[in-house]
Amino acid sequence: MSKKRHFETEAIQATEPHGDETGSVANAIYPSTTFRREDDGSFASGFIYSRKHNPNRKLLENALAKIEGGHCAFAFASGMAAINTVLQSLKAGNHVIVPDDAYYELRRTLAELFANWHLSHTQVDMTDTAAIKSALQPNTRLIWIESPSNPLLKVTDIRQVAAIAHENNALCVVDNTWCTPVLQRPLELGADAVMYSTTKYFGGHSDSLSGALVINSNAPKEFVDNLANIQNLSGAVPSAFDCWLITRGIKTMKLRIMQQVHNANKLAAFLQQHPKVKTVHFPDLPSHPQHQLAKTQMPQGSGAMLSIQIGETQQQAMAVIARLHLFTRATSLGGVESLVEHRRSVEGKASLTPVNLIRISVGIEHIDDLIDDWMHALS
Ligand SMILES: *Cc1c(COP(=O)(O)O)cnc(C)c1O
Repeated sequence: MSKKRHFETEAIQATEPHGDETGSVANAIYPSTTFRREDDGSFASGFIYSRKHNPNRKLLENALAKIEGGHCAFAFASGMAAINTVLQSLKAGNHVIVPDDAYYELRRTLAELFANWHLSHTQVDMTDTAAIKSALQPNTRLIWIESPSNPLLKVTDIRQVAAIAHENNALCVVDNTWCTPVLQRPLELGADAVMYSTTKYFGGHSDSLSGALVINSNAPKEFVDNLANIQNLSGAVPSAFDCWLITRGIKTMKLRIMQQVHNANKLAAFLQQHPKVKTVHFPDLPSHPQHQLAKTQMPQGSGAMLSIQIGETQQQAMAVIARLHLFTRATSLGGVESLVEHRRSVEGKASLTPVNLIRISVGIEHIDDLIDDWMHALS
């Protein structure tokens, strides 16, 4: 069969059990930490010890590479473990460029941990190409992209920034957590690797903490070898059960996300026309400053995360959140249940997030019920 399969088909095929003698259609879980040697000392199965390899992790990593169109993938115990692995692959004296609104704990990791190991960084507005270029240093080895950004939903031109990175002998890695390979394909736009908190849409049920890196076939071999080595030596690998959950999540991921995107579009349109809502940050809205770029980079939809600004003060925003019944007040995103969060109070003192901002993760509930909930909360 030569024709390239569609995502939905690959997502099912790539996550099927292989070589299971029982004929089981669902995957087994292999909690074993260690694997038996042959009498000559060899390992016929290829598995030795679960920090190095585990059957569930191998299936997940192969599936991740297939659905992303990558050369290979690495699974981790969290999204932060995946981020830390990329940073550990760099050297003391290297320089990193990150978005000024990058995931809050990536910025903390650079400032509080890696600064001590002489990895320097500059935060830039990634929507401003000139700012990226002027942040480049001779020792810049990585440009990190997160698009759309959190919590203001700024969109970065991945193709353009990846080209800037490569012209300057740097890697380009994209945190694609908010879009997944269903909506956005950074490897096809030239990124060397994509990073995921699979905790979010891949798992989809808010019950597995895990992360991943998927690597482009064009990425430098030394980088890939380094990642494999760090995954093993740092040991921040996911359990067999978490790998099993994420593998299962991949099967329904597109269905869930497309429903979430549909709901998010309807909710964004409702909120935008509501007189009490000042601003809606959502790239699929024609009023979004980068709507055209969003349409070309994420043609099936820009995701199911949005944020709004309401009133003037934290108290006013909190009061609206308190009146919602279907949106659980909790951090995180990407699960089937809708969540709502006041980001400023979560991020702490150094946060630049507006005090009147509310971040919304839209779930798969019926959209009419979700809109009713907001109508009541805003009344
Ligand atoms: C949640 C998240 C992370 C961190 O992932 P964990 O699984 O919580 O470690 C990184 N980037 C983005 C965009 C996220 O939403």
